Amino acid sequence: MNAGLVLISFLLLASLGCISAPRVGCAYGNSECGSDQDCVDNVCVPKSGCAYNNPECGSDQDCVDNACVLKTGCAYSNPSCPPDYDCANNTCMLRSGCAYGNPPCDGGETCVDNICVIGKECRQTKTFNMLVFMDDDSYDVSDGEIEEYFEEAGKLLHDRTCTEIEVIKIWHVRLGGSGGMEQALRDKFTENAALARRANGFVFFSADQNSRSYGGYAWALMPASLGLSNYCNNFSYNREIHFMYGSVIDWTHMFGRCGYDEDLNHVSDVSIDGECRNQQGTSCVFNNGYYMCESLVDDYYATNRNFFTATTIIHEIMHHFGDNGNYDHFGTQECLAHGDYERDFYCPSQEDSDCYFQMCPYVYGNFENAENLCG
Ligand SMILES: [Zn+2]
Repeated sequence: MNAGLVLISFLLLASLGCISAPRVGCAYGNSECGSDQDCVDNVCVPKSGCAYNNPECGSDQDCVDNACVLKTGCAYSNPSCPPDYDCANNTCMLRSGCAYGNPPCDGGETCVDNICVIGKECRQTKTFNMLVFMDDDSYDVSDGEIEEYFEEAGKLLHDRTCTEIEVIKIWHVRLGGSGGMEQALRDKFTENAALARRANGFVFFSADQNSRSYGGYAWALMPASLGLSNYCNNFSYNREIHFMYGSVIDWTHMFGRCGYDEDLNHVSDVSIDGECRNQQGTSCVFNNGYYMCESLVDDYYATNRNFFTATTIIHEIMHHFGDNGNYDHFGTQECLAHGDYERDFYCPSQEDSDCYFQMCPYVYGNFENAENLCG
C-alpha cells in the first residue's frame, strides 16, 4: 500500500466516524421529553410550577395559570365577612338573632342579649303621681281594692309608656252637699296643698250620668281655679297652663254586662236595652263576678274584673295628651292623619284599637315625651 492510499483511508474513516456517532439527547430532538418536562442542558427535568405539582400549592391556594393564588371566599379571609356575618361553608351568612335583625323582634318585644323578650325597652321609668277621690255615696270600696285597680292600671301604662302610677293619696268623700265634686276637690286641695302640688292627675270615682254611661270621662282641671296656687305639672304637654290631668270613673262599670236594669239589678237571662253591642237576646253568662254577654267573655277587656276600669283610667289620662278631644279616639280621620306607627309594646290582643284602649297611638307618644318644665 502506498502512502497516498493510507491517507485517503484515514480521511474516509474519519468522516465515517463523524456520521456514525450522532449526538444524543433532548437538545437534539432525538429523545423527546415528556409533556411535563423541560429540556435543560440536554436533560429532561420536570417543569416547575403548580401545574406540574412542582411544588404543589398550599391547601388554601388554587393553581391558576401555573401560579398559586389564594382561594376565594371567607374561609380563606379572601375577603373576610363583614361584621355581623359568620362564614359558613365559605359563604358569609348574617348571624341569626335579633341583635342582627335576623329576624327582628316582633312589635312589643325588646332584643336583650340577642334574644327577643316581651316588653317595651325603657331607658328610664317615670312616675305619674295620682290622687284618688272615692265617692262613698256611690260606692263602698276599701283602699286595698283601690290600690289593686291602680296596680293593674299602672302595669298597663308602664307597658305602653315606661311610666308608673303612684297613688299618693286616697280620699273618701261624700258629695251630699251642693258643691259636688268641685267642692270636694277644693276642700282637699286647700287642706293638703303641698301634697296636691305633687299630683300629676287625679281619678274621681263617682257615679254620675256620664261616668255611668261611658265608664268615665276626662276632666282637665286648673288647680288655681280650685284654690291651689303655684301648681306646676311636671308632665308638661305643649301647654303653658298647668292642668291637673283628671278623670271621673265609674267604679262599678261592668264591661259587657248582660241582663241588668238601670239600677243594676240582674233581671234577664238574655241581653236587653242595647247590651252586648246592641245584640238583643244574647245569652248572659256569669263571668268576673257578674253577668256578661256570652259573646264578650273572651274579649280583651274581659281579661279580669278590674281590667276594663283600669283601661278607662289610662284612656282618660291619654285624652289630656291629644289635641282633638273626642277625635283622638282610635281610627278617626284626625288619628289617621298622624300617620303610621309601630307598636313597641306587647299586647295579647291582636287588635291595636284594644291595645291602645281605643285611643290614637300618637297621644301615647305625647305622654311619653311630656317634659318637666317646672323650675
Ligand atoms: Zn275617650
